[in-house]
Amino acid sequence: PDGDRMTFCISSQAGCALQCAFCATGAMGFQRNLQPSEIAGQVRALRMLTPPIIPTNIVFMGMGEPLMNWKSVGPTLTLLNDPRALGIGARHITISTVGVLPGIVALSERPEQFRLAISIHAPSDALRKTLMPVNTKYPLADVIAAARAFDRRVTFEYVMLGGVNDQPEHAAQLAQLARECRAFVNLIPLHPGGSMGFTPTPAAVITAFAKALRTRGVETAVRRSRGLDIAAACGQLRTERLGRRAPVAPEIDGEVHVA
Ligand code: SF4
Repeated sequence: PDGDRMTFCISSQAGCALQCAFCATGAMGFQRNLQPSEIAGQVRALRMLTPPIIPTNIVFMGMGEPLMNWKSVGPTLTLLNDPRALGIGARHITISTVGVLPGIVALSERPEQFRLAISIHAPSDALRKTLMPVNTKYPLADVIAAARAFDRRVTFEYVMLGGVNDQPEHAAQLAQLARECRAFVNLIPLHPGGSMGFTPTPAAVITAFAKALRTRGVETAVRRSRGLDIAAACGQLRTERLGRRAPVAPEIDGEVHVA
């Protein structure tokens, strides 16, 4: 909840195969793709409570990479949007991806105005491939080109990792990329204990980073981390309950089912 907004953060897969270095879900490995009924069902379940919780916005930022499960996510978008089903406006539904290119094309071919967010997290290939193994398959330049070609304004997601991607030169590089595709930038503070081997960027450094982007003409917001108090921040619940499992290699579910 945030003012008049009620945003549901939903999952498209159980676990995730992509192994982003800072992500608790990635450390769990991939379990399986969710069905449309299971994805839309997350929204339906909250609406069925007494009293109901009615969403104004949906973000696919829970477990999994939604564009690696397009076979389910495509029909789910219809279920979420259609007035005969859940009736949520397309502009209030955001797909967040690491940059799975065939999936971005499939999303862009939908007539509805669904929103696209791209997880950038590092402004150069050299750094990004150390944080996100998927960068080998979908390099940054190709992801930026896809963002530029997308016919609606995109958002860049950028998690702030202390001493890793939060330096002034990173802000300058990120601003250049964002300006190329007129992207809005969301800076995401890492929550404490959210990721082994990384520390959160101090608040003052995040503020300076945001200012460096804005002075270069890039619209920027700093997101608030939510759910830490109820063990529901990113990856927290499952990691605490089940512990860590050996990751599954991305190739095992590496293909995008666009059809
Ligand atoms: S950040 Fe997203 S794509 Fe990367 S491992 Fe986590 S859930 Fe998967």
